[in-house]
Amino acid sequence: MEIVKTIEDVREKVRAAKAAGRRVGFVPTMGYLHEGHLSLVRRSAEESDYQVMSIFVNPMQFNNPQDLDSYPIDLDRDYALAEETGVDLVFVPDVGEMYGERKAYVDIETLADHLCGSARPGHFRGVLTVVAKLFNIVQPDVAVFGQKDIQQAVSLEKMVDDLNFPLTMIIAPTIREDSGLAMSSRNKRLTDDERERAVVISRSLKKAEEMLKKGERSWKAIRSEMESIIESGKPDSIDYISAVDYHDLQPLETFSGRAVIAVAAFYGAARLIDNMVIDLRGGEVTCSY
Ligand code: AMP
Repeated sequence: MEIVKTIEDVREKVRAAKAAGRRVGFVPTMGYLHEGHLSLVRRSAEESDYQVMSIFVNPMQFNNPQDLDSYPIDLDRDYALAEETGVDLVFVPDVGEMYGERKAYVDIETLADHLCGSARPGHFRGVLTVVAKLFNIVQPDVAVFGQKDIQQAVSLEKMVDDLNFPLTMIIAPTIREDSGLAMSSRNKRLTDDERERAVVISRSLKKAEEMLKKGERSWKAIRSEMESIIESGKPDSIDYISAVDYHDLQPLETFSGRAVIAVAAFYGAARLIDNMVIDLRGGEVTCSY
């Protein structure tokens, strides 16, 4: 595995891989790797044969300076995990390499209006801008993102489509701890007690699945059950419990077609998010989370 810090070096390595006929897969991350990130590399390796991972804690997507300052970093551990998982090239730029004077951005209309977009102004502009830059730097054939950050994944799918990035986007399932808690680098901030209390988030999604499978289609009815389950874990606060249409991420009242149920709640210093994608097309209820 090679580790490079400059745009010029990434371009040179990727150019050589492509010249050797290799299909390039790409997994962007902010590091502090866990099984969720590694699952994306494995998924990418099913579709490509040269794996690039970026590790960059992108200041532009942090709306809270404390969250940025306390974001966990352990590059040596990350390099070891990436290498074990088959990553060929790690791109680990510093902020100066990625950003000079910033005047151009990528932004998206309406998809950032709800869910995390309301609580984190500017966050999706930061994500889309950095991923567009990384796509132009790495020029992958395939890029893999996690369903865990569903609003990010759907927005990036739209960006790739609308702006004609020549690559295939894959959204891979959320990897969870045995308790059901979605893995996240921010879980490091949880105390044992908070970690235990937070398991109700995924339980509430299971309850929603159960209700949908029994024929319930009213969001009000499902939300009320989910809320009492989440309240039972005594979160410090609930940011949102929302249902939106998959394609435009606008709130819905009755389930049909493809939809997302998403939750964000604070446990101590950690803001945890989770979601479930629901597909009602074709008569059957399919829930993935
Ligand atoms: P991050 O380092 O948090 O920016 O995440 C980098 C990529 O890993 C994003 O595409 C995330 O959606 C994805 N990811 C984060 N957590 C998980 C998880 N538990 N399961 C699957 N993918 C994840």
